[in-house]
Amino acid sequence: MTYIASADFWPMYRAYLASSAWLHRRQLVLARDRHQCTVCGDAAGPFHIHHVSYRAVFDEPLDDLTTACSGCHSWLHMRA
Ligand SMILES: [Zn+2]
Ligand SMILES: [Zn+2]
Repeated sequence: MTYIASADFWPMYRAYLASSAWLHRRQLVLARDRHQCTVCGDAAGPFHIHHVSYRAVFDEPLDDLTTACSGCHSWLHMRA
């Protein structure tokens, strides 16, 4: 998505992460992943919802999102 490179993206993305649409989607992803990190299986949390893809950001199919603990979430971003 070329849109992600625009200066408007990050402020909009931060606002989206505080929206009820995101909070709802986040709950669906957590439930699907049984409240466990999909990388290491940690079940203690706190969990981050990681974007596997930003292709449909703001209206992500649940397949584009995955649950990660904070340690694995950092690792996912360092790897990318
Ligand atoms: Zn983990
Ligand atoms: Zn992430």
